[in-house]
Amino acid sequence: MAKFNMSLTRTPVSVREPSERSRDFIEVCSGYTLDEAITEANRCLGCKDKPCVKGCPVNIEIPKFISRIKENDLEGAYEVITLSSSLPAICGRVCPQETQCEAKCVRGIKGESVAIGRLERFVADSCAAIDPKKKDTAKSGKRVALVGSGPSALACAADLAIAGHEAVVFEALHEVGGVLVYGIPEFRLPKSVVKREVEKLKNLGVEFVTNAIIGKTLTVAQLFEDGYDAVFIGSGAGLPSFMGIPGEELKGVYSANEFLTRVNLMKAYKTDPVTPVMKGGRVAVVGGGNVAMDAARCALRLGAEKVYVVYRRSMAELPARREEVEHAIEEGIDFRLLTNPKRIIGYKNENDPYDERNGSVKAIECVKMELGEPDERGRRRPIEVEGSEFELEVDTVVISIGTTPNPLIKSTTKGLEVTDRGCIKTKEGSSVTSIEGVFAGGDAVTGAATVISAMGAGRLAAREIDEYLKSK
Ligand code: FAD
Ligand code: SF4
Repeated sequence: MAKFNMSLTRTPVSVREPSERSRDFIEVCSGYTLDEAITEANRCLGCKDKPCVKGCPVNIEIPKFISRIKENDLEGAYEVITLSSSLPAICGRVCPQETQCEAKCVRGIKGESVAIGRLERFVADSCAAIDPKKKDTAKSGKRVALVGSGPSALACAADLAIAGHEAVVFEALHEVGGVLVYGIPEFRLPKSVVKREVEKLKNLGVEFVTNAIIGKTLTVAQLFEDGYDAVFIGSGAGLPSFMGIPGEELKGVYSANEFLTRVNLMKAYKTDPVTPVMKGGRVAVVGGGNVAMDAARCALRLGAEKVYVVYRRSMAELPARREEVEHAIEEGIDFRLLTNPKRIIGYKNENDPYDERNGSVKAIECVKMELGEPDERGRRRPIEVEGSEFELEVDTVVISIGTTPNPLIKSTTKGLEVTDRGCIKTKEGSSVTSIEGVFAGGDAVTGAATVISAMGAGRLAAREIDEYLKSK
């Protein structure tokens, strides 16, 4: 007879103290120990209808891997997870489990859901040295080029390699991983974890070519001329949007993408970095998503004396993960909610045109907002409160109000159809694009979304590419 842990609350996990962690880039959460993981695994009831699996975009057999943890069979648990996910150490850390698998967990009806994400991370970290099981598939002799190396392309490449195809990933940057390396900061997702997962893909036979911009170094048409049988486009949505308000050209204004890339990929937090960012002073981050939380917490770690998050709706509408918002609040980030920037004010010394502060950010003028009727997405529309303008004195402004796909691939690939938002058009529920042999998935198709949805799209594309190659 199975012994369950009927505690209504989750087994706590060790998290570093805010005062200590808010000044360095070391990971915030240390993950479960073996004892903690088994205690938490025993909260799982092993439900026959597996509602949690339905909430997982890649359908990991959750009760099955958790039952292996109960038996202390971590390799067995890892084998179950890696049948569905090639990046479990990453997903265990950054997936919004609270709105996916954990939201469906029956233990959440009365009490807290099983901490599925923490258990996934524990298994992946415990099995860091083990490669996912290779199938003895014969080599197909077919070659697939993948554009971009974010989670969509990594997941797609892994499945293609397992199916016996040659998978070659072309990445514009000098490091592999997409947003996982240039966007999500070290204190949430250590780069060593991404490297480890990428090494496993190399062991599966996936090849990586870095510093290769498709659309410049080579076009999609040239990839076919070079003998590739199919192309997967997973180029993400890395083009930042701006607000179009006065002052966005001032010194000290960054898009979150530029700011985070300099910090995470180019290591601007080290002394004497190649691409420095403004450090210290007062920083305003505009926006309320995961990207805004990451930018705000990075600014704090770079030594800012004060960091504001300026968001035009209320806490209830803030789209970032709850855990990240709680961590940001604990670390001392000042949330200015129902507040919208109207212009960024620059410094100008009338008496000294050579004053080096001229043209730098001095303040941000904001207006208070209130919530009106719901918009077409059901979110209450923010409306300006007349006469409520005020200034926040800041030295740096980081704009984090969204991104769209970069138009380079569209503009260099004849016949590739995109939506009016610049996203690549695919057939409903499929990765098939308007060009034969070209498939697409992830943020390049959906616009900015999540790691797991990008992975799900990559896996779907791998199945469709496999069928396409077999049919050729
Ligand atoms: P990306 O990860 O964007 O990768 C695309 C890659 O393609 C990039 O490396 C890019 O350099 C490369 N590329 C682009 N154009 C070309 C070209 N022409 N030639 C060659 N290479 C090219 N999601 C979560 O689930 N949880 C989170 O906590 C979370 N936090 C986030 C924090 C930040 C700061 C950001 C920016 C995003 C976050 N996301 C999060 C979203 C998630 O990271 C993305 O949805 C996901 O990475 C999309 O994967 P992708 O493969 O479509 O593209
Ligand atoms: Fe376990 Fe929750 Fe899934 Fe049921 S719904 S099998 S309790 S994780």
